[in-house]
Amino acid sequence: MINPLEVFNWKLTNQNLTKNIIRGDKRMDTLKSNMFGSCVFNESVMQERLPKATYKQLKKTLDEGVPLDPSVAEVVASVMKDWAVEKGATHYTHWFQPLTGITAEKHDAFIAPTDDGKAIMEFSSKELIKGEPDASSFPSGGLRATFEARGYTAWDCTSPAFVKDGTLYIPTAFCSYTGEALDLKTPLLRSMEALSKQALRILALFGDTSSKSVVTTLGPEQEYFLVDKAYYLQRKDLIYTGRTLFGAKPPKGQELEDHYFGILKQRVSDFMHDLDSELWKLGITAKTKHNEVAPAQHELAPIFSSTNIATDHNQLTMEIMRKVADKHGLACLLHEKPFAGVNGSGKHNNWSMSTNTGKNLLDPGKTPVENAQFLVFLAAVIWAVDEYADLLRYSVASAGNDHRLGANEAPPAIVSIFLGEELTDVIEQIETGVVKNNGTKKTLEIGVSTLPVLPKDTTDRNRTSPFAFTGNKFEFRMVGSSQSIATPNFILNTIVAETLSRIADRLEKAADLKSEVNALLKEIITDHKRIIFNGNNYSEDWVIEAEKRGLGNLKSTVDAIPVLIDKKNLEVFDKHGVLTPVEVHSRYEISLEGYVKTIRIEALTMIEMVMRQILPASLRYVKEVADTVASLNAAGADASSAKAALDKLTAITSSLRANTEALTDEIEKLDAEAGDSLEHAKAYKEKVIALMQTIREDADKLETQVDAELWPLPTYGDLLFKV
Ligand code: ADP
Ligand code: MG
Repeated sequence: MINPLEVFNWKLTNQNLTKNIIRGDKRMDTLKSNMFGSCVFNESVMQERLPKATYKQLKKTLDEGVPLDPSVAEVVASVMKDWAVEKGATHYTHWFQPLTGITAEKHDAFIAPTDDGKAIMEFSSKELIKGEPDASSFPSGGLRATFEARGYTAWDCTSPAFVKDGTLYIPTAFCSYTGEALDLKTPLLRSMEALSKQALRILALFGDTSSKSVVTTLGPEQEYFLVDKAYYLQRKDLIYTGRTLFGAKPPKGQELEDHYFGILKQRVSDFMHDLDSELWKLGITAKTKHNEVAPAQHELAPIFSSTNIATDHNQLTMEIMRKVADKHGLACLLHEKPFAGVNGSGKHNNWSMSTNTGKNLLDPGKTPVENAQFLVFLAAVIWAVDEYADLLRYSVASAGNDHRLGANEAPPAIVSIFLGEELTDVIEQIETGVVKNNGTKKTLEIGVSTLPVLPKDTTDRNRTSPFAFTGNKFEFRMVGSSQSIATPNFILNTIVAETLSRIADRLEKAADLKSEVNALLKEIITDHKRIIFNGNNYSEDWVIEAEKRGLGNLKSTVDAIPVLIDKKNLEVFDKHGVLTPVEVHSRYEISLEGYVKTIRIEALTMIEMVMRQILPASLRYVKEVADTVASLNAAGADASSAKAALDKLTAITSSLRANTEALTDEIEKLDAEAGDSLEHAKAYKEKVIALMQTIREDADKLETQVDAELWPLPTYGDLLFKV
């Protein structure tokens, strides 16, 4: 059967084809006229506007992590202000990333009054370097009690400032007055420094003493949904929680597999073009865009950059996606699971390490000597992921992601690594010390020509792996679509810094580097190969196999959060100066609090929707059916079918009301209970979520039985197919 909606869209697409080509050309023109990065105080602007000496000094800080000289900041502040004012800025803000997972900003005008009653535009180095926002209204997980309520923001000159909506945005780190990190950026920057330090030790062993630093690189692929704004506004669940708490399955889902890489609908295409322009202006390298698996689901991938900049850019991307969607009469849903029954959204975290000169350390390369170095970095990642799999699992734990991980669409909650056939083969050869497929059996020695040339581009088509090697980088696929990528990355950087440091400790002492590398690689592989799994991660067999291998399976957020404060994990953060035990404890509390708050808001939204929308509408329909039964009976007609429908409806409405009341009582009870935050979170997971599931089942049944005219909510069909 022909879907009228599709015909309509097809027509639209054709009508707009010519228009589109013309538009496309114009877009290229605009691009050519240097739209990219036009609102960014980037290196070329600095080079052009800063005195030579100042630029050189700043560049040293940017490239080599040398501390910034205060006199440099003085010059930069004044040049930056002039540039921003030319771009239309009247205000500036220290832009930071508190532990809410989103960004925060407070705008101050450049304006300063003068004696003659006028005003000038002013911006001092002090204002550039340091801000003092009131820290008391941001989550601190108990840090405020221990320390002081005041907080300050400190300029992060490694991420460029930019102008947006008439304000100069200065990326900053946010700390308590005594220096405890109150944000996501501080540990990320610290972890990058830790990894750089350890990676340089390894590079030095392999003869590279000229690299000044090693940066972690990141390309996050962002998935999202677009729905019609008018429908969105009619759903309290989408407004308050970002996901649908109700919704019967539509006749069509994603089973035809016709959406992935499908033709873009005109509205979506217009949105994407607009989005690209806005992102390009801010220097965000939005590159790839396409339709995803679920209907109404899409993806955007930028070109990778340093983890720090990529994290800032990803926050901006999410914000601008929402804004641009709004302009197009759409709502952008970034939740991990906006709809039951179709795929949820993730954020593929493509991660690698690179020298300051741009040499990718996870690139297998061609020459054997480099292979040995590559294998050491590879082994460090394998070791880290195996030993700290629990931390990686924690890093992606959220109430939203619980709907995704372990469902048959996203990686399971079990962390494992996909290496691909060829690399696995190399790893096996190292472990056994024997070269395979070589006719005669030869002893394998890393660093000599017997080692097979490593594949540059292992075609990874294992989409089920949570942590996959994809040619010259790792792709961590468990990350949720709405979360900040700072946490997964500061954890990844820290644990790899740790294994690199252990490797460096050993190799630096070695009398013969080559034989020690051989021995060490063999050891690491023997001890940690259990984490390597190239098969189907979605299968039931893997769950059993993983258990046999002793791999963790932390099924939910509540299971994953406690690992954060395990002794070994507290130690690794402390050792590398990423987070002190006190800072880690504060994050533990905030994670638990965040979980409870999210579920509580969902439960309260559910109660409101049932009591004020779903039950009233259903009861109106019940009355209609009851009237019909009465009329049929009065007319002496057969009322049995209508009566059966009525009985069914009243049974469901009664059950729905009873469960909703039980949920209300449960929340009240839990609110009154003070006590251990972990126990509190567990109660929410076990009791509240269970009741919410039952309520949803009843409500969804009603949706399929109540007159569509009376149903108070836009349906899944409306949301998923009517953009
Ligand atoms: P796919 O995953 O679809 O095969 P690509 O491999 O082209 O796509 O890249 C996916 C993402 O990985 C992009 O954002 C890209 O910029 C990023 N990426 C590529 N190389 C690196 C790297 N060395 N470090 C971090 N990210 C990278
Ligand atoms: Mg990918």
